[in-house]
Amino acid sequence: MDVNEFRRRGKEVVDAIADYYENLDSVPPLSAVSPGYLYKIMPNEAPEDPESFEDIQADIKTKIMPGMTHWQSGNFFAWFPSNSSFPAILGDMYSSMFNIVGFNWICSPAATELETVVMDWLGKLVGLDKRYMGIKDDGTEGTGGGVIQGTASEAHIVVMIAGREKALERLKAQGLSEDDADKMRYKFVAYFSDQTHSAGQKAANIIGCKTHTVPTGDDLRLTKQALRAAIAADKAAGLIPFFVCGTFGTTNTTAIDDLPGIAEVAESEHMWNHVDAAYAGAALVCPEFRPLAAGIERADSFNFNAHKWMLTNFDCSALWVADSTHLVNALSIHREYFPPAEDSTSFVKNYRDWQLPLGRRFRALKLWFVLRMYGASGIRAHIREHVRQAKWLEEKLLADGRFEILAPTVFGLVVFRLKASAISKSDKDGDLESLNKANTDLVAYCNEDGRLFMLSTQLKGVVAVRVAIGSSFGTQKNVDLVLDVLKESASKVIAEF
Ligand code: PLP
Repeated sequence: MDVNEFRRRGKEVVDAIADYYENLDSVPPLSAVSPGYLYKIMPNEAPEDPESFEDIQADIKTKIMPGMTHWQSGNFFAWFPSNSSFPAILGDMYSSMFNIVGFNWICSPAATELETVVMDWLGKLVGLDKRYMGIKDDGTEGTGGGVIQGTASEAHIVVMIAGREKALERLKAQGLSEDDADKMRYKFVAYFSDQTHSAGQKAANIIGCKTHTVPTGDDLRLTKQALRAAIAADKAAGLIPFFVCGTFGTTNTTAIDDLPGIAEVAESEHMWNHVDAAYAGAALVCPEFRPLAAGIERADSFNFNAHKWMLTNFDCSALWVADSTHLVNALSIHREYFPPAEDSTSFVKNYRDWQLPLGRRFRALKLWFVLRMYGASGIRAHIREHVRQAKWLEEKLLADGRFEILAPTVFGLVVFRLKASAISKSDKDGDLESLNKANTDLVAYCNEDGRLFMLSTQLKGVVAVRVAIGSSFGTQKNVDLVLDVLKESASKVIAEF
């Protein structure tokens, strides 16, 4: 393909993308193909000779499209949203144009410096403490800073490595030799709650430390008391607490852990304190949500996915550390083929030392486009509208009388179930098994309807329906639909009981 054909085809592709977005609501959001559908219709080998753009374009329609689950549909209510937006797509097009591997400043000074700038912008926008800024108000370099990771899972691994480094340094400061400190690694314990995302456990599996899953109470929050009890038991057994993750907006219910309490414990135990706000962190652009996030200012690291609920195409996971020393010490490795000293002067971050891989894409561009083309006011309006829609749905479900809300609706997630009295004649709790079956069926019927996609989860054995509102392209009419389908499906379930 030469540049002239690229010019022509590029415009066709942009048209196809615009058509796709215009028609998204008319397509079932959940793919209906069976496993293996594509293997069966694909050739066994890559083509020997070049094929035409038209043939590939046709295959996108006939072979790929049927196997797509449409995350950008306004009728996608599963997991959490994964926002895209036209400004972000345009930014990403520029990123593809440059196609850099920006591990060091010199690999593309603009890529490094724009990332430092937009991460400070974003940090200020969500009200982060000054400790997290890459550049201080007086223009000098901060001890902390932000970095764009691919995912919250990668952020988890990176900060756990930093936490381990901090713990090792502390052991050495207490007089242990490098070797003896190293031998203590197997005693290191990371703390999570039973509601922490699996990313925490995965990070622990990767770095090879022990984990302690701390039980939550009925409100599904990790508390200071439960954390203290877990730590005391482990210390009595000779183990070394080194890392704790509090969550601002858990995956199951968007519960918010006792972040000030966790900070207090982490400080007294010298542990690394990470706050995972993968989904709900975006809400902090609105000042009214900030009181809920008290305690974040005392953490060592904070992460949220701009690609979940902040209009920025996947992947764009924003991570801040208050002090990058341990992170950089743990991940910085010098080799002769890396460019020398001019890289490590002030204001210049070698982001290869802030992440797992060496190479990195120019992801700051799409975030820059989003921050500039929506402005803070546009992003706030985006968040507030989804929260309004979620509260509206909650109200309508309660007014219906057959549903009960199982967790407070704080952000865009509504967690509920058909209540016992709706499926049995008595008002009692009924048996959990039947109630769980009724709610599993409810979600199955809603999805079988074909017009939307939602999921259930389990809260300590209780099946709960999760409707996650937050599509960049969703409007009130999509939430009207979800209510209609839920009501129809509920009637079907009740008729069968
Ligand atoms: N943490 C929380 C609270 C999440 O909800 C999720 C995903 O939904 C993750 C972490 C993992 O996110 P990622 O896919 O970016 O690794």
